[in-house]
Amino acid sequence: MSENSNETEVKTVQSNPTLESEVNSARINALELKVETLSLITESMWNIVKDHSLEDSFDLKSEMAKVIGQREERSAEKVTCVHCGSEELLISGICSQCSEPLKGSDGISVFDY
Ligand SMILES: [Zn+2]
Repeated sequence: MSENSNETEVKTVQSNPTLESEVNSARINALELKVETLSLITESMWNIVKDHSLEDSFDLKSEMAKVIGQREERSAEKVTCVHCGSEELLISGICSQCSEPLKGSDGISVFDY
């Protein structure tokens, strides 16, 4: 694919307000679903923490800082696609060259997006 095809695609979206609006609506719907899922996960996890009387036994801010560091490491982790040999970022889930799922990406957390 040449760079021209990308430019054409962008121009099409920019010159078609209805399509742009539909694309944005779909993206917003997908984001709302993700936020709702994260909200459910967070509330459920917090319930488990309270059920075990653990809410005073850890430092949430320190844990969040640790997770931020772990995510930075994960987002830089690379794998070689077993189908085409391309070197890819594991976090992307699929190969950018052949679109095959990357081996190991199925272990990525539901929180990784
Ligand atoms: Zn590939």
